[in-house]
Amino acid sequence: MDFHVHLDNSTIDKVLELSRERGIKFGIVEHAGTKENQYPVVLSNESELDGYLKMLDGKPVFKGVQAEWTDWMRCFSPRMLARLDYVLTDAMTFPGKDGKRVRLWDKDVEQRVDMADKQKWMDRYVEWHLDILRKQPIDILANTSWLPAPLANDYETFWTAGRVKKVVETAVANKVALEISSSFKLPRLSFLKIAKAAGAKFSLGSNGRYPNMGKLDYALEMAATLKLMCADMFTPAPDGQKAVQRRKY
Ligand SMILES: [Zn+2]
Repeated sequence: MDFHVHLDNSTIDKVLELSRERGIKFGIVEHAGTKENQYPVVLSNESELDGYLKMLDGKPVFKGVQAEWTDWMRCFSPRMLARLDYVLTDAMTFPGKDGKRVRLWDKDVEQRVDMADKQKWMDRYVEWHLDILRKQPIDILANTSWLPAPLANDYETFWTAGRVKKVVETAVANKVALEISSSFKLPRLSFLKIAKAAGAKFSLGSNGRYPNMGKLDYALEMAATLKLMCADMFTPAPDGQKAVQRRKY
């Protein structure tokens, strides 16, 4: 199963052809949150989410959203959110010097976020992860352990065992699964070993846009190396136990 599939530049029917060809079930995640988030499609209100859910109705896919920023859950009623199979988010949008959201992958990131002391910034980034895991009713943390360009070449230096433990223990405590991302080839094995030892659940994701959904090579390789079994894997929670139903927010 690939729980991180985007419909950008394609249609559900074309994506379903690939699902059949590749023998992989897809979880579709449209972006969801306020219109301040900039993506090809951002579901921002009750009727847009309803239309999306209806479009996927009866199709052999899981229905998810990729939640954006910290206020996405206020755009929808709890009843509407409970119609989703799961909610996924990541930590890649971060508060800038002015408090506004900054996409950490943007080229001007160092003008907008103070990263002069990289170790200090990394501590803030870990806190940001904990904040998301504690406050948002999410089922999956996607793109786990992704680092912005100024830090990305020193993965092991910044993702120390202590920092990894904080993130994975908070994920386990809040029943949030950690995505193994095939597109980013992350997390690395050092991170994943600590996560497995802490009892984390994992989901596999391509973050794929057409025609790259279902390409899970890196995630499957890590799953084999770690000897992950069914019990280690995320599956959408039954009605009543989804994060949006079980968590206070
Ligand atoms: Zn995505």
